[in-house]
Amino acid sequence: MSISNQQMFERACQLIPAGVNSPVRAFGSVGGTPPTIARGAGARIWDVEGTEYIDYVGSWGPLIVGHAHLQVVQAVQAAAKLGLSFGAPTEAEVEMAELLTGLVPSVEKVRVVSSGTEATMSAIRLARGFTGRYKIIKFEGCYHGHADALLVKAGSGALTFGRPSSAGVPPEVTAHTLVLDYNDSEMLEATFNEKGSEIAAVIVEPIAGNMNLVKATPEFLQTMRALCTHHGAVLIFDEVMTGFRVGLQGAQGLFGITPDVTTLGKVIGGGMPVGAFGGRSDIMQKIAPLGPVYQAGTLSGNPVALAAGLATLKLVSEPGFFESLSATTSQLVDGLLRIAREANQDFSGQSVGGMFGLYFRAGVPQSFAQVMQADADKFNRFFHHMLDAGIAIAPSAFEAGFVSAAHGQGELERTFDAARKAFSRLQG
Ligand SMILES: *Cc1c(COP(=O)(O)O)cnc(C)c1O
Repeated sequence: MSISNQQMFERACQLIPAGVNSPVRAFGSVGGTPPTIARGAGARIWDVEGTEYIDYVGSWGPLIVGHAHLQVVQAVQAAAKLGLSFGAPTEAEVEMAELLTGLVPSVEKVRVVSSGTEATMSAIRLARGFTGRYKIIKFEGCYHGHADALLVKAGSGALTFGRPSSAGVPPEVTAHTLVLDYNDSEMLEATFNEKGSEIAAVIVEPIAGNMNLVKATPEFLQTMRALCTHHGAVLIFDEVMTGFRVGLQGAQGLFGITPDVTTLGKVIGGGMPVGAFGGRSDIMQKIAPLGPVYQAGTLSGNPVALAAGLATLKLVSEPGFFESLSATTSQLVDGLLRIAREANQDFSGQSVGGMFGLYFRAGVPQSFAQVMQADADKFNRFFHHMLDAGIAIAPSAFEAGFVSAAHGQGELERTFDAARKAFSRLQG
């Protein structure tokens, strides 16, 4: 026992703003000191004090096969031995492009970058370059990374800290960003009727995972698809979170809707920094050097990062992977719902594939406004009761949760035991 979480975090706070390199990690909304993580294996992580947790954060989505999966680690080690980066074409990039285009039919051509933020930022620039228009539509509570034009009424950390828009973004930069209500087809239709010829793109999380979990209605996405086609706007599905998380073809596969451009990240990097954007060939041809839309990256398509992503994608492509993952995730949510009911708590939950949402309110939310009605104070107390019992869920009421293939009956039982105690302490 050489160092405590407290000491470690104080050391971090001296030199790193709030002690973290991404805001939600700081426990700002739930309070307390975040444990400093030393290692992970399968469904579990350990902090620097040696305390074990069952992890439902999974590095915020990427770790769908669990921490330090042997095949993923071996692939990374083998790639690293051959050199860390070349800034030149490599076979891993071609393999990744073949896998992505093979699995996601709407992705005819694809470019690999180093984060989800880069993917969405580039997709927006591409849509604007392709259409020769500037306006984009996004939805309140959806998070598309932290590029300036997209940081308007965003979700995730931007939401957790009650500042859904960021300082430092000139109004000119967001002047072309129209923010509409999620799942409101009438508002979308009215906006297209008024400004249709100026709209370059609609960007949407087809299953929103950055305002907790909110599913789009099929009707909302169908209306969006039809309006984009009719008005010549590019439909961008931001599947950075849902891609290879809710199923092999992402949310677009579940809904049976074909976007023009898809952005990917998280799972396709298997825990390493990887993002991608791809879609219709005629749109992707506009990217430099074939076309006039610039996009580049010193480490784009990094071979070591792609080794982790390729190994992960091979594992999730195995027959039955998503059936099994979905079954575990719905078993988790069903169990928690039952326990909350026994404790007479206003609580609801749902899951899609390997992601889930838990809400301290009666009924599953369908809109951003409904998400905001959840009892944040109760969530914060529940979060700490669970963490104290060795169950790590996301430290914010506005984040989705993640189950990995390494979560099994043992993990679920321990989670239910902790939840029984946590809910009983919330009573009264
Ligand atoms: C995580 C996320 C991003 C941003 O990805 P980063 O790798 O964090 O830059 C973009 N869109 C969605 C839907 C996400 O969940």
